[in-house]
Amino acid sequence: MRADFLKFNPLKLGEEEIAEVVDTLRSEWITTGPKTKRFEEDFVRQFDCKSAVALASCTAGLHLALAALGIGKRDEVITTCMTFTATANVIEHVGATPVLVDVEPDTLNLDLAQVEAAITPRTKVIMPVHYAGHPVEMDALRALAEPRGITILEDAAHAVGATYRGRPIGSGENPCAFSFYATKNLTTAEGGMLTGSAELMDKARILGLHGMSRDAWKRYSKSGSWFYEVLAPGFKYNMTDIQASLGLWQLKKLAGFQQRRAEIAAAYTKAFSACDLLETPVVRPHVGHAWHLYVLRLKSERLSIARNRFIDEMTARNIGTSVHFIPIHLHPYYRETYGYSPEDFPVALDAYHRMLSLPLHPGLTDADVADVIEAVLDIATKNYVRRAA
Ligand SMILES: *Cc1c(COP(=O)(O)O)cnc(C)c1O
Repeated sequence: MRADFLKFNPLKLGEEEIAEVVDTLRSEWITTGPKTKRFEEDFVRQFDCKSAVALASCTAGLHLALAALGIGKRDEVITTCMTFTATANVIEHVGATPVLVDVEPDTLNLDLAQVEAAITPRTKVIMPVHYAGHPVEMDALRALAEPRGITILEDAAHAVGATYRGRPIGSGENPCAFSFYATKNLTTAEGGMLTGSAELMDKARILGLHGMSRDAWKRYSKSGSWFYEVLAPGFKYNMTDIQASLGLWQLKKLAGFQQRRAEIAAAYTKAFSACDLLETPVVRPHVGHAWHLYVLRLKSERLSIARNRFIDEMTARNIGTSVHFIPIHLHPYYRETYGYSPEDFPVALDAYHRMLSLPLHPGLTDADVADVIEAVLDIATKNYVRRAA
């Protein structure tokens, strides 16, 4: 057993990021300015985006996109129950109604047959989440949404660097929000990026900075002026140059990070697919997986311990794990407001009870990965329920 505790998701920034932040701190501009602009430009180039706005968080991006699309009271937004609460919360923020659907058993992405069944004349937006970094079937989703005039707003919090049929996630005309939270594949401590058509991004940029027609950097630079007009009561969602300093270098390093994540995921899958007590994550052939999470599912009918005990056993072996996610409909607010019961989404409920996320980050050594594999296989085989003869 390993001697020290392996954290589920430790932070490891490089000297380049640190030097860039210091450079910003010594400059005369620390909030939204030249580095944020460069970060947006680099992001657009790297992922072939139409346009991009750097923001305070992914949550801000999702909220801003809904607001810029004019979504409000009486509108319905369809999303997955297998996500972080921010995805559903932003729908509430604009006064619309979140309509949850269950997930596919293999990818745990939203089930498109259930999306189709949930569409009503009030449906304005569908919010897919590229769960764990595995892209949603975007062609099929577009075929559902586009003829009905429904906008797709992608929650790509897990999917920076992911591809669908060779195209980067975030390269479309529709809005797509990325997260740069401390635990995400690319981090700026807190931060996010909204991508999509230039027209919608122009709107989002204004609405994301008080609804003002000129941003502060332009106002205070030599070429700017003191004059601005408020076009709408907007929000304060801008990214700072301190955050962008981290993003500039994280973006350059992302391809290397992704390669290491994929290597680790492959090592886990190789080790666990041989064990018939464990269910490993799938990767469809036409996607590039971002591997934000490695979600293992236990074959609970063959194990004498439940998931929670399994996690305790992992902790006892000095391995940190987590669970992604507690489905939205189980949380008191959503359960009570919309009258959900746990069995309303049986696939998500079953997955939730059997899942745990293993450590997956570029800083893991091969020895760390071996420790995780050893712990999982040891716990599984010690708690194996033999089938009746
Ligand atoms: C992390 C996360 C978010 C929120 O990202 P922030 O940048 O922290 O706002 C939204 N959706 C999903 C699926 C996430 O995992």
